[in-house]
Amino acid sequence: MNLLLIRLIIFAVLFVAGLKLYRMYREWKLDRDGPDQGGDAQGNRMVRCRWCQVHLPEDDALRERGEWFCSGEHRDKYLSEQKQEQKEQDKED
Ligand SMILES: [Zn+2]
Repeated sequence: MNLLLIRLIIFAVLFVAGLKLYRMYREWKLDRDGPDQGGDAQGNRMVRCRWCQVHLPEDDALRERGEWFCSGEHRDKYLSEQKQEQKEQDKED
């Protein structure tokens, strides 16, 4: 009878301790994950503009034909140059 009581007490203590630990863990996780969601710059991958070689976050960059660009202007310049090279190659043939 005594042993059963001790087991019950141990079980109750472990249960309460586990619950407290779980709450502490949840609060710690919220504290840690909270600021990360606000600051995107830290987790963002940096890419390089194909035209001017400037580095910028992936979210701000434009992607075209597997290349990254800092702006639509530089994308258009790069693409028009590609087209010109293509035409020159066609002339050589
Ligand atoms: Zn650029």
